[in-house]
Amino acid sequence: MNMPSSHGKPEHLLLIGGGHAHVAVLADWIRHGLPCPRATILTPSRQLRYSGTVPGWISGHYNRDEGLVDVAGLALRAGASLVEGRCALIDPDARRVETDAGERVKFDIASLDTGGVGQASDVLGKDPRLIDIRPIQGFVERMDALGPSPRIAVIGGGAGGVELAFALRNRAGFEKKPQVALVAGTAGLLPEFSSSVRKTALEELSRQSIVLVQEDARIDENGLYAGGEPLEPVDTIVAAIGSAAPDWVKASGLAVDEAGFAAIDQHQRSLSHPHIFAVGDVAARQDRHVPHSGVHAVFAGPVLAANLRAVMAGRQPRETYVPRWNNIYLLSTGDGRAIASYGRLSAKGRWVSRLKHFIDMRWLRKYAGLAGGSG
Ligand SMILES: Cc1cc2nc3c(=O)[nH]c(=O)nc-3n(C[C@H](O)[C@H](O)[C@H](O)COP(=O)(O)OP(=O)(O)OC[C@H]3O[C@@H](n4cnc5c(N)ncnc54)[C@H](O)[C@@H]3O)c2cc1C
Repeated sequence: MNMPSSHGKPEHLLLIGGGHAHVAVLADWIRHGLPCPRATILTPSRQLRYSGTVPGWISGHYNRDEGLVDVAGLALRAGASLVEGRCALIDPDARRVETDAGERVKFDIASLDTGGVGQASDVLGKDPRLIDIRPIQGFVERMDALGPSPRIAVIGGGAGGVELAFALRNRAGFEKKPQVALVAGTAGLLPEFSSSVRKTALEELSRQSIVLVQEDARIDENGLYAGGEPLEPVDTIVAAIGSAAPDWVKASGLAVDEAGFAAIDQHQRSLSHPHIFAVGDVAARQDRHVPHSGVHAVFAGPVLAANLRAVMAGRQPRETYVPRWNNIYLLSTGDGRAIASYGRLSAKGRWVSRLKHFIDMRWLRKYAGLAGGSG
């Protein structure tokens, strides 16, 4: 039976979602032991798809399943139970999760790392040609099934959209390169990056004959438009417009920000329910701005692990994830090269692509080793 924390030390820790931060928590448990008598992970998929290798798979530099992390293997090695299912609602006061299959899972302390949800058809409009990059597994499956597609529009001028435009222009397995248009929106190309990175990306888009449209996209019954001008004919529309908050976070009564993401403090704790933690894209830090990106989900993982260990021992969480002043971002250009961004600096070349490969593979191998028992 679960012992609620008001009756003593919490006993049952529930991880909801096997995202980039929760795999770091599982790694901590493998290395240092479970922090409590019982731990469970609730996840719809036994594996996590690492988004960093998806553009490289499209352009033929990786096999389809090279970027998978074995969440079930990590849970097994950590001594945690795994429940296959998707959180549909949390009753934070009863400390209970309901899954989409109607199963109920009780907890004393819970942590959310479920990422965001796709919003392409809500924001742009419905179209059978539209492929949202969220959920990423669904995106991979649709891309895998997609035959020749000579004219592709990519919507979204952030890092994901830019990398996908390059990857699709260099799409592997087809004789003729597709024509690609990148619809970056009125916010423009890579708005969160420095002007030197933007300039490098602009030059590369032009060199690879990718058309850049700096207008907002919209789909209606007549097709795809940008800034009121038709972009047809188009065979495939790929949307990389950022993710929305899952509805169940707000519906569960957890404190949320204006967009519906779980509002958390500097220790990743819900502002309304301190026995619930959240991390990664589903969460929104209220003490400072932490952008939604894989880098931050990855780096917040060990901090979350330490805080969960503290609360399971009946102590206050003390650790805070402080984003580095600058993070290195490596954007693949689909042709065996990549663009590096570090603060105001940018660089481009094959060596950047090799560095990206090294960093991505090191991350993946660490978890493969831990799940397989050699890490
Ligand atoms: C093509 C592409 C390329 C990208 N490249 C980069 C990059 O190079 N660098 C970078 O920093 N960021 C990149 N990103 C962004 C990055 O993928 C996300 O920011 C990151 O995945 C967020 O991690 P997360 O742990 O919050 O969630 P996720 O990685 O989305 O993991 C969430 C997990 O929770 C599961 N889940 C979902 N709903 C539920 C539920 N209701 N109940 C239980 N489990 C659930 C999901 O199945 C998933 O396994 C890229 C994104 C895409 C799509």
